Amino acid sequence: MSGKKDLIVAIDLGGTYFRVMLANKDGRRVAHVRKETRAAAGPEAIEKRLVAAVREVLSGWPAARVAGVGVAAPGPIDPQTGVLHAPPNLPGWNEIPLRDRLQEWLGLPVWAGNDANLAALGEHRFGCGRGVDDLVYLTISTGIGGGIISRGELLLGSHGLAAEAGHIILEPNGPLCGCGQHGCLEALASGPAIGRRAVDAITAGESSTLQVVLGNGAGLTAHQVVDAARAGDRLAGDVLRQAAIYVGMGIATLVHLLDPALVVIGGGVSNAGDLLLDPIRQTVRERTMEAYHGGVTIVPTALGDDVGLWGAIALVMDRVAV
Ligand SMILES: [Zn+2]
Repeated sequence: MSGKKDLIVAIDLGGTYFRVMLANKDGRRVAHVRKETRAAAGPEAIEKRLVAAVREVLSGWPAARVAGVGVAAPGPIDPQTGVLHAPPNLPGWNEIPLRDRLQEWLGLPVWAGNDANLAALGEHRFGCGRGVDDLVYLTISTGIGGGIISRGELLLGSHGLAAEAGHIILEPNGPLCGCGQHGCLEALASGPAIGRRAVDAITAGESSTLQVVLGNGAGLTAHQVVDAARAGDRLAGDVLRQAAIYVGMGIATLVHLLDPALVVIGGGVSNAGDLLLDPIRQTVRERTMEAYHGGVTIVPTALGDDVGLWGAIALVMDRVAV
């Protein structure tokens, strides 16, 4: 590795927006852009916009100083080949050789990984997981994703598909999940699941300040439920607590399997803070064997929305030994 290659580009494909960041080898952010993904335009149009955004953050910097590009992709991706398999947030993307295409268009080496996996790597390298060699990252947003660091290494499994914590089945007769199964953690406690539970309870006749919001006919978001819970709405508080109990049950399984010292909770729903974290911590304690008590700390993400970008930076650093 030449000492001159001291810059790294990270891309987080996200959903509604994608983000591109330029950072230096000391882990300092140099430039950052966020653009609308416009997923309906299809893969080729989005790839062109990605390439343009990478050129934008690199403007004024010589390409010779760039060590590589890391990509955090939503949904399953083969970390060896960089082929993206049908991400739910990017309709029309199926078996897209994302890494090879970006490599060709940018003329730079590219590495790619699942965004929740890379988020675990980001927290481990730059966030609240520094110095912690066994940690679990859980993102609670449109879906529920996971990433595992075990003995200081990102756990990928035999096909790069490890740590899909959102599909731990907790209620065999529970609601249908996007994966086709019933009662997965994701179907019980993701943002949309929280919104749906509040709607169902109100439709069944329970009273809530959210009735007024629901009157607009657009359903409820987790964000609205969190706001109502914070303002003291009993139903919203109950719905959020129930989701947190399911998350706690999922984490209890992960604790029994992996014995992590730290569990980091990220994603939009984690903005609920202690309204979510307190019942999660209580459930993990109630649902794990006594030997684990006191051994695992559960905290919110330290890197917020940029966690996937920092993971993509760490991925490149590991591959090219910047
Ligand atoms: Zn599922």
